[in-house]
Amino acid sequence: MNQLKYILLAALCALFVSCGEQGKDNPTDSLTLNPTSLSFAAKGASVQSVTVTASGTWSATPKADWIHVSTASGSFSVTVSDNDSDARAGKISVTCGSASKEVFVSQVAGEKEAKAIVPQPAAFDGKKRASTTYQLLIYSFADSDGDGIGDFNGITSKLDYLDGMGVTALWLSPAHPTNSYHGYDVNDYFALNPKFGTEADFQNLINKAHEKGIAIYMDYVLNHSGTGTEWFKSVKADPKNSPYKDYYVLSYEYYPKEAAEGMGTWHSLGGGDIGYKGKLHFKVDWTGDTKYVTVSTTEAAAQDPNTTNAKRWIHVGSKGSLGMYETSSNIFELTIDVDTDWGFLVRSSNTTWDGGTKYGGKPGQNKITLGEPFPLDNSTASDIVFGEAYSYFASFDGSMPDLNYGDPDACENSRAFKSTVESATKWVNMGVDGFRLDAVVWIYGGQWESNVKFLDKWYQAVNSAYKTAGHPDPIFMVGEAWDGTHSNPEKYYYKGLPSNFEFDYGYAVRDMLKSGASANFASKVSGFVTDHTAQRADAITSFFLSNHDENRFASEIGETGMGTMPKRKQAAAILLSGPGKPFIYQGEELGYWGVKDTDDAYVRAPIMWNKSGSECAKKGVNNKVDGNMLKADISVEAQSATDGSILKFYQSWSQLRNTYPALATGTMSKANLQGTSIAAWYMTEGSQKLLVIHNVAPSGVAVSVSDSMDKPIALLGTATVKDKTLNLGGNSSVVFEL
Ligand code: MG
Repeated sequence: MNQLKYILLAALCALFVSCGEQGKDNPTDSLTLNPTSLSFAAKGASVQSVTVTASGTWSATPKADWIHVSTASGSFSVTVSDNDSDARAGKISVTCGSASKEVFVSQVAGEKEAKAIVPQPAAFDGKKRASTTYQLLIYSFADSDGDGIGDFNGITSKLDYLDGMGVTALWLSPAHPTNSYHGYDVNDYFALNPKFGTEADFQNLINKAHEKGIAIYMDYVLNHSGTGTEWFKSVKADPKNSPYKDYYVLSYEYYPKEAAEGMGTWHSLGGGDIGYKGKLHFKVDWTGDTKYVTVSTTEAAAQDPNTTNAKRWIHVGSKGSLGMYETSSNIFELTIDVDTDWGFLVRSSNTTWDGGTKYGGKPGQNKITLGEPFPLDNSTASDIVFGEAYSYFASFDGSMPDLNYGDPDACENSRAFKSTVESATKWVNMGVDGFRLDAVVWIYGGQWESNVKFLDKWYQAVNSAYKTAGHPDPIFMVGEAWDGTHSNPEKYYYKGLPSNFEFDYGYAVRDMLKSGASANFASKVSGFVTDHTAQRADAITSFFLSNHDENRFASEIGETGMGTMPKRKQAAAILLSGPGKPFIYQGEELGYWGVKDTDDAYVRAPIMWNKSGSECAKKGVNNKVDGNMLKADISVEAQSATDGSILKFYQSWSQLRNTYPALATGTMSKANLQGTSIAAWYMTEGSQKLLVIHNVAPSGVAVSVSDSMDKPIALLGTATVKDKTLNLGGNSSVVFEL
């Protein structure tokens, strides 16, 4: 047993001590360490090494649990645990026989808690790099002369406001003479609405806007005109002989005729006679595949209608359905006194109009000739008429007659095409920088291939005029191509125009903010851009939240009133931190809300410039205004003086977009961060790369981020960072420069 003890003791001595006789002081033991003190960072500190020169076997023992030692021949390496507390110090004891020395170890203080993000954006150098457009309603933006109607000089007086919001272009609502307040029924494409000012006022607006780097886009309505054009007035006065009859889609057959396809209908031009008054004999022949009605004058006496066993009926005038008599197999006859101002129909049922039981004529082939068999049709079953009338087609309502560009393959030869291009050239020559084209999907009744042919030709013609006016770059033109889905056929409109509004974008932002789920938003939006660029290399996707035809975005996401407005601000943050060309709709920057249920005017409210209001603001549009909204605190005056207002938010993030090329003109790509409420993407331009992260849920979320979070440049809401974890508050957004 004693022998075993001795062997174990000897083995230990061999491990730790070979520098002298065990158990006795040995003055020859020597030990040198280099270095003798080490200093470590708080997090992720690198390995440090200590060289050991000893006369024999040595050992190194850390004297604190956060210091770790690994020995090797002639040295040992030291690592430390991460420090999330105060600065600390410890030591490593090194011994060799009777000699012993120490290495002092220190570590700086770590972060005890998550650190709040304080954005430090680069200073704005005054150069507008972004292409941010403001959709402006001339009639309700700013009124310079106190008549309660916005005007050109009003806009000019507010250019500083628009400049302060970083906008680089204005899309003006239609500026031409019109019968409506909104202007989408143009009465003269070559003139300006006198309520808005003179051509000199318009020229002044263009010049002053250009001085501030703001382009002017006109809203052009090509699908239809108003009824006050010289062209239409001439057609109305003499439908058959007017020199302008080729400007419109006219029918000389009868009124009304059903639309061939898509939406719209025919409207009477007057001047015809389609009815009949007098005694007539009706004979219906149901014996063959094609059914016929023959109507003749007669000397025979009028009959009482068959009310007992009728199988066919004449529906005429205001008498309703009158039963016929079967005079031989499948031959039906009736003589009656007729007084109709619209014609007549044949029916095979007097209890239902459904299932093809209504028989009339085909559109454009509806005029009957007395004494001649008339073939019946039960597909469109248009009224059968006795005389000629004149009608015009309108996709929208009768105040907007559709313009006629003829065969799409030769539309450039039509006079309507030439006139509209000529008028656009006039405005280009005054300095107008681009056009927004209204309702382009209806130009050829929803036939997108024809629409695209037309748009390409119209764009090329006006772009040619723009080049002639001395501009090296192509003109900007954006279409209201609201047609089916993004994929089909909307994206194909890029074959005709360099830009179109991406309606699905606003819907996606809306759905995201309503649900609190990001639903692959970044992939969807970058996909929009990719799809458009595939159609044409110079494609510019125009993104927007809402416009004058839709409910206010604030109302759509259920956030009205002037309390906090986290979702409205986040919608702006999303719009201004993504790709493409953002459009801000008048009033969005003030947090406007409104729905168009009772009237579109409620989503077109005037800008409230001052706390006390103005004539324009008080009257609203056509006296339709939400008085609960247009109160002092929503005014530009109030919000300009309030830190944290949505107006100031628009100003700061728009400035951010103008500061960073990666935001202004960059390419978007999805960032793979975890979290159902996280919409995150990179924006890259040249060597500049930004990481954009939005938490679209109303509650906070922790996100693991592998990219550097050292350089935050923008923040909405709240955000803290600890290590590689970002804690993002509800409806909060942050942008990092990488
Ligand atoms: Mg005015």
